[in-house]
Amino acid sequence: MALDLGGTNVRLALVREGHLLHEARLATQAQDGPAALLGRLAAAVHEMAARARAEGSPPAGLGVASPGVIDRATGVVRVSPNLPGWRDVPLAAELSRATGLAVALENDANLYALGEYLYGAGQGGRDLACLTLGTGVGGGLILEGRLVTGALGSGGEIGHTLVEPGGRACGCGALGCLEAYASATGLVGMLAEALAQGRPSACQPDGDAESLARAARVGDALAGELFGRAGKALGRAIANLVAFTGLDLVVIGGGVAPAWPLMEQACRREMAARLRIVDPGAVGIVPAQRGDEAPLLGAAAFARQGLALD
Ligand SMILES: [Zn+2]
Repeated sequence: MALDLGGTNVRLALVREGHLLHEARLATQAQDGPAALLGRLAAAVHEMAARARAEGSPPAGLGVASPGVIDRATGVVRVSPNLPGWRDVPLAAELSRATGLAVALENDANLYALGEYLYGAGQGGRDLACLTLGTGVGGGLILEGRLVTGALGSGGEIGHTLVEPGGRACGCGALGCLEAYASATGLVGMLAEALAQGRPSACQPDGDAESLARAARVGDALAGELFGRAGKALGRAIANLVAFTGLDLVVIGGGVAPAWPLMEQACRREMAARLRIVDPGAVGIVPAQRGDEAPLLGAAAFARQGLALD
């Protein structure tokens, strides 16, 4: 079984061999606090587990994809910007106690990468980086078939690598992160800054990334330029990533991913300028194949692997 804990929605699914059999959704309502949400999560997991048992296939365990910083050793969500009030929440232990299932907890972007690696765009390869362009920029990195998390747990956080010294402020507190340019928040922020400077555009200052993409597609020069900036930032980050890992596949997912064609040319141009030690043309940059399903597929696989290791 797999659970994807999003800032707005929670998705729960029974997963068999890369397919979602049953799926349930509930509103996260994070403003009610961790205790209320944990109670509703446990009830939903209970219900789906009972259904699976009734069908003769009891779940072996539960994989949980959570945003934020995860303490893997203890199954604790340390802090999660999209879940207000979540600080040091023992999510794995609480869900395990309430449902009787073994629970494996991992960062959602990492599990997205694992889902694409096993069942999507990364099938058949050894290495893959995944960038989820959404409210922020999530990152997941798989090298030699293994998810890279590192001793400090920040492995794969490509969204918080530097693309512009002294650049735009990022939600993490640093300046010039990829996330400050290639996320929905970054794009909307850059739009507001440009409009405040008097740049002409059909875009409204309160627009979202989707309306910005629509404007770019019908020829709004400013909107096109901003996606170009996002693409350039992606090109820098990917050039760095390829230089220090040697990987040859980057998967682009998340809510802003449909706008990838607006960013691709600038990304490729920047990569060609920055990456001189290998052929930048050998790096595949492709859209995610499993999309929203990827974190659920990754979470189920991660739970299976975790149980096998125990
Ligand atoms: Zn950052």
